[in-house]
Amino acid sequence: MRRTKIISTFGPSISDPKILKEVCKFSDVIRINLAHGTWDESEEYNHKKNIHLIQEISKDLNKPVGIQVDLRGNKIRISDFKNHFIELENASEIDVIFTEEQKTDNHEIFIDADYCFSQIEVGDKILLDDGLIQLIVNKIDSGNMKLNCIVENGGLLKSNKGFEVENKIIHRSGLGEEDKRDIKKLAELNIDWIALSFVNEASDVTQAREVLAQIGSPINLIAKIERLEALKQLFWIIKASDGVMVARGDLALESGPGELTGLQKDIIKQTVKGKRIAITATQMMESMISNPTPTRAEMTDVSNAVLDGTDAVMLSAETAIGKYPIETVEAMHEVCEGAETYQESITKNEEYKFSEINNIDESIAISSMSIARNMGIKAIVALTESGSTALMLSRYRTNIPIYAFTRNEDTQRRVSLYRGVISYQYPFLVDSMAEVIEDVRKELVGSSILKTGDLIVITSGSPLRVSGGTNSLRLIHI
Ligand code: PGA
Ligand code: MN
Repeated sequence: MRRTKIISTFGPSISDPKILKEVCKFSDVIRINLAHGTWDESEEYNHKKNIHLIQEISKDLNKPVGIQVDLRGNKIRISDFKNHFIELENASEIDVIFTEEQKTDNHEIFIDADYCFSQIEVGDKILLDDGLIQLIVNKIDSGNMKLNCIVENGGLLKSNKGFEVENKIIHRSGLGEEDKRDIKKLAELNIDWIALSFVNEASDVTQAREVLAQIGSPINLIAKIERLEALKQLFWIIKASDGVMVARGDLALESGPGELTGLQKDIIKQTVKGKRIAITATQMMESMISNPTPTRAEMTDVSNAVLDGTDAVMLSAETAIGKYPIETVEAMHEVCEGAETYQESITKNEEYKFSEINNIDESIAISSMSIARNMGIKAIVALTESGSTALMLSRYRTNIPIYAFTRNEDTQRRVSLYRGVISYQYPFLVDSMAEVIEDVRKELVGSSILKTGDLIVITSGSPLRVSGGTNSLRLIHI
C-alpha cells in the first residue's frame, strides 16, 4: 500500500480516456493547469470538457480521484506564436513588444504586461521558459514599448511561456481579475482543490477564500510557493491555506540551484507542522518525458521527497505531454512505496508535542497515534464528515494505515491528498455505534485488509453524522 499521494498533470498525452484510466489507477489527484489550454467550449480540447472526462473516469473506476486546478497567477507570459513556437539562434536579434493586443507573430515576441516595461533597462537579462532561453536587452524604444534583445541562450521557444527579468520583481501583486473569474467558473464544476500560482503573501490566499465564500464553494486552496517573496510570509501563507506546493520549477529560478533542496525540506516540515498538506512538484521524473525508465537521480529525488514527509509528489510534463505517461506514474508509485519502508525508522523516535494540541479533534488524533504505536495497532479508522480527523491523524507520519469512513463523496476526494489516508464510502445508515463498528469490521475484513484478531482504533463523534464533533476513540479487536 502506497501512503504518499500522486498528482498527475492532465494534458494531450493522457486525454485519451483509455490512457487516462490507466493513469488514474495510480494517481490520487489529476491536475489541470490553466496556464495551458482554454475555456473556449468551441475548441475540441477545453477545461470544462477535460474536467468532466476526469470525473467520468473516476466514476467508472469507482475510485475518488480528486481534481486540482492551478490558476494562472500573476505571472507574465508571452503571447501565442502563429506556429506555436519560434527558433532562436544564439547571438541573433529579437524584439520584445509590450502591447495589450493579443498579437501573434513569428518574428517578434509579444507580451501583454505594459505595466512592467518601465522597470526594464539596457543590459537586463530576460529569462523565458523557466530560464531555458535567455536574452540580453540591447536597445529600448520607449515610444513603441519595444525591447531590442540579443539572444544569449537560444533554442526552441514555445507559445505562452513565462517571462522574467533576472534579479527584478516585475509582477503585480494581489489576486488578479482573471484568477477571480477562473475561481468562479471552477466553483461550478465540482472540483476539489484550487492551486494559487505565484502567491506573494497570505492576503492572496484570503482574497481567493473570500471569492469562494461569496459563492458558497467548499473548494480547498493550495498556495504554490514559487517566489522568494512568499518565503518571508510562509507561516501566514500556510495558516491561510489548506495545502502548500513546493513549486520547484519557478522557485529555483529565484532561489538558485544551491538553496532549492534546503527550501524544499523546510517548507514541507513547516507545512506538516502547521497541519496542512505538502506537495512536492516539478521535474520529479523529467527524463521519462522521453524515456521509459527513470534516472537514478529521479528515483532518489522522489524518495527524498517521501522521506522529507511530503503528502504528495506531482508529475507535470511527464504525464501532460510525455511519451510514457503510464510507465511514469507506475514508476513513481513503485519508488514511493519503496521509500516509505524507510520512513518509520526515521520518525520512530520523534516525540509528539502535546503542547501543540488545541482542540478535541487533535487530542483524539494524537492519543490514537500514541496508542497505535505502543499497542501494535494495525489500522486507525476515522468516522468522519469533513475529513478533518483524518487530516490530523495523517500529520503524524507513521506507517499505520488511516481509513477515512465517510458518507460524503467530496470528503473522499479531498482526503485523497492526505498522506496515508484511504477513504471508504460509508453511508451511515445505522443508528447505534455498535452497528457502525460491525459494519467497519465487515468492510475491512471483507476486503482482506485486516484479519481476525487484529487490534484497531476507531475515532468517532457523538452524535454521529455531525461535522467537527470527533470526541471519542475506541480500541476494537477485529
Ligand atoms: P507550474 O508550477 O507547473 O504551474 O509552473 C509548478 C512549478 O513552478 O514548479
Ligand atoms: Mn510554476
